[in-house]
Amino acid sequence: MEALQDKIMKEGTVLSDRVLKVDSFLNHQVDPELMQKIGKEFASRFQEANITKILTIESSGIAPAVMAGLYLGVPVVFARKRRSLTLTNHLYTSQVRSFTKNETNDISISKDFISSEDMLLIIDDFLAEGQALLGLLNIAEQAGAEVAGAGIVIEKGFQQGGRIIREQGVRVESLARISSLENGTVQFTEEVLN
Ligand code: 5GP
Repeated sequence: MEALQDKIMKEGTVLSDRVLKVDSFLNHQVDPELMQKIGKEFASRFQEANITKILTIESSGIAPAVMAGLYLGVPVVFARKRRSLTLTNHLYTSQVRSFTKNETNDISISKDFISSEDMLLIIDDFLAEGQALLGLLNIAEQAGAEVAGAGIVIEKGFQQGGRIIREQGVRVESLARISSLENGTVQFTEEVLN
């Protein structure tokens, strides 16, 4: 997606060979116009998939997921990273190892909000090692819900997440695919690398 690639080139900062910082439009400050375009693009790619609900994870998946939900006309549920006091054992829970923070979180979703009737579209900001997506897929499985695919804003194709998830037969649509962050430079590719 051209508008997204342009934004990454203009405002993204390469923190290391493996980490891209996009705090000015996705991970801290949010660019609503860009999110709207992203939501529209996800919606058009999954228009025929009979999606009933979008599943994402707090906090950076929420903005693109809400925009996609708006265009698809379906609700958006986000997994919480900490068990809230108001949620007790009426939960689906899974463990996610965070690539950027180097910690493991329990993620959970109330059983009220996904069921075996659902056809889910999973949305997240980044795909790196695939742990966040695996956690969400695991929750979908616990609920007996079907997953039509995953919409990813930025896929880092040089990490193994994309391969792991696609090998499970899950359709992955990413709007920007990065092949390298070496030498402080972002390289994009159209190809699925792994
Ligand atoms: P994974 O579970 O695929 O390893 O990583 C996905 C999660 O890690 C994303 O939801 C995102 O929050 C975070 N993440 C992974 N790589 C990056 C990166 O290069 N930059 C930023 N800002 N977040 C990342």
